[in-house]
Amino acid sequence: MEYPIVYAAKHNDLTVRMQSRSGGVFTAISDDILDRGGVVYGCVLNEKFEAIHIRAVSKEQRDRMRGSKYIQSNLVDIFKQVKNDLKNNNEVLFSGTSCQIAGLKKYLKVDYDNLLCVDIICHSVPSPLVWKKYLKYQEQINNGKVISVDFRNKKDFGWKEYIETITLKNDNGIFKVNSEIFKYLFSQLKISRPSCYKCPYKDIKHPGDITIGDYWGIEKAAPGFNDNKGVSLVLINNNKGIKQLKRIEKTLEIRECSIEDSIQPPLKSPFKKPKGRAKFWKELENKPFKKIVKKYGKRNFLFKVKKYIKRLLKRNN
Ligand SMILES: Cc1cc2nc3c(=O)[nH]c(=O)nc-3n(C[C@H](O)[C@H](O)[C@H](O)COP(=O)(O)OP(=O)(O)OC[C@H]3O[C@@H](n4cnc5c(N)ncnc54)[C@H](O)[C@@H]3O)c2cc1C
Ligand code: SF4
Repeated sequence: MEYPIVYAAKHNDLTVRMQSRSGGVFTAISDDILDRGGVVYGCVLNEKFEAIHIRAVSKEQRDRMRGSKYIQSNLVDIFKQVKNDLKNNNEVLFSGTSCQIAGLKKYLKVDYDNLLCVDIICHSVPSPLVWKKYLKYQEQINNGKVISVDFRNKKDFGWKEYIETITLKNDNGIFKVNSEIFKYLFSQLKISRPSCYKCPYKDIKHPGDITIGDYWGIEKAAPGFNDNKGVSLVLINNNKGIKQLKRIEKTLEIRECSIEDSIQPPLKSPFKKPKGRAKFWKELENKPFKKIVKKYGKRNFLFKVKKYIKRLLKRNN
């Protein structure tokens, strides 16, 4: 298709939506694949809080894939496993960033009818090393051991807010820390992987059969649809995508939207490598992480000014 067909979508089951990053479309698609005896590949956090791709054959295993892990996922030997499943005629859903989908297709060399690829709209992926150092820092300042993380806590703060929640444990018990430090590090783009500054998928066209993301701009695109509990932007990229959507549409509340109302920066062009990236990495190597947090992990002056101007403009309109 020359252009994707665009939808706003929400899973009918609010519990599913609250456990998902956006509108829960990934669960709707993967439920269908699993119900038909297929296998699902996607990203989970392991016991060390590293992002890795795994193979799931049950909904319990798949549930760990829900939610965005804002770090680069390690694919380990997953492409080999995918090929094996495809050759054994298993129905396969592979989910990941657009470059992971493109990489898988290059590895497979041939098109398989039994493969469905779902890519996520991707701002960029931060460095797993910075994430590791950040968690260690949280353990030190809070005198506890991390037992779980939520990169973007939708349950307590709503879909639009961006607050990470880290749960820790020490002799006094279990406690939660809400923070915006990793968000600020991420938003300055200095911790993104180098390939992301040249990303060829910052476009309305994607390598997946279906592309999913957060529907930013939903208020204009589909007035009354947003309840701040998560809305997915769904791009249907080809006939396989159309067929899959038909299979799951009963599980979703869905509205067709225009492409013009659905464009967000990661669908336009790659983000430029920021000035000072090399300096940041040198400092990361040589300075204690608390100094990095003090310098880069807070809302900077420019950000505050931009937010202030935005608020003023909103008030005057
Ligand atoms: C690093 C990153 C950056 C993103 N940037 C944007 C953005 O700029 N704009 C936007 O609209 N949406 C972005 N998203 C996508 C969005 O956050 C949701 O992942 C997507 O809308 C799916 O939500 P859902 O409710 O359908 O399902 P969920 O159940 O929340 O889906 C989780 C899906 O994301 C995959 N996933 C999670 N973490 C990773 C990872 N690290 N690497 C590869 N795959 C992963 C899982 O395999 C699964 O398919 C980003 C996601 C990630 C991981
Ligand atoms: S921004 Fe592009 S290159 Fe970077 S992880 Fe996302 S899809 Fe891949």
